[in-house]
Amino acid sequence: MGVAQTKQTFEARAKRRRIMAGIRPTGRLHVGHLLGALQNFVALTRDADCFFEVADLHALTTKFDRSKEIAHDVREVVIDWLAAGLDPELCTIYVQSQIPEISELAVLLSMIAPISWLERVPTYKDQVAALGSDIATHGFLGYPILQTVDIAIVRGERVPVGQDQVPHLELSREIIRRFNHLYGPVLVEPEPLLSQTPLVPGTDGRKMSKSYDNAILLADDEAATNAKIKTMFTDPTKVHKTDPGHPETCPVFFFQRVLNAGAADDIATRCRTGRLGCVEDKADMARHLNAFLAPIRERRARLAAKPELVLEILGDGTQRARSVAMKTLADVKSAMGL
Ligand code: SF4
Repeated sequence: MGVAQTKQTFEARAKRRRIMAGIRPTGRLHVGHLLGALQNFVALTRDADCFFEVADLHALTTKFDRSKEIAHDVREVVIDWLAAGLDPELCTIYVQSQIPEISELAVLLSMIAPISWLERVPTYKDQVAALGSDIATHGFLGYPILQTVDIAIVRGERVPVGQDQVPHLELSREIIRRFNHLYGPVLVEPEPLLSQTPLVPGTDGRKMSKSYDNAILLADDEAATNAKIKTMFTDPTKVHKTDPGHPETCPVFFFQRVLNAGAADDIATRCRTGRLGCVEDKADMARHLNAFLAPIRERRARLAAKPELVLEILGDGTQRARSVAMKTLADVKSAMGL
């Protein structure tokens, strides 16, 4: 695409509502990310001006002692995003740390964000309790400020969130309201874009998460996927094929319903009436999941072989996001008289 055409596309996009979403690069993405958020991201790019940030500064809050791993994680996340179908011509993909205006605005907003607001974030105390006092840093406490900046600096109007994330966004809205009250209406107050993202189960039946070691990665090949599905948790009351099962509580059935919808009713009936065994059903589900992931894996392999292309996409996106960020920061400093 030529420069003029690209510019025209950006201008056309900029007239749409702006959506901002970010992800912490903590390693490769999994099927839970794909079904839970990424497919929604791809759909949003059709009608909105989407800014997708790889939040590597946020990754530092829990990985400050292994900071050199983060650049690699950033690249992996971007490859996963692109492989999953995000088109860099339809959205802006960028890296948080490459936009110094984000850090500067974080300092400015930290001056007006009361510590009591930050301390009341439930995840702060939960995470410190779970991960130990080592992560109880100034940066970790200030995480909500940085999150607010992520949205505000690109003038995000809507943020795709699940119900559990609404309180976090409300805190960002409060910080922005406080800024606008003190200095004038400069920052956009973002609204939640509630997404009906399914809770994707992992191989042990809990929510799919890397920290539970129960994830099927987008980067896994067919053999690795099959091996994981073979050990997948099912209805524990169904020991033999002839035992009546409860598909509604079974993670294998979750994937059948999503990926093999036409056959789901039949599978459920055969499971309940003891005419379908878990070994057979898992093999069938693995076939459908592998077929679903095949084009993503192909794209992933192609992109992984072209690191310069990934860097170029990130460079273009970062340049575009930075130009918006510079303007926002200039407006903020002018409003504050700095
Ligand atoms: S037959 Fe299928 S749906 Fe039923 S319990 Fe086994 S794996 Fe789950």
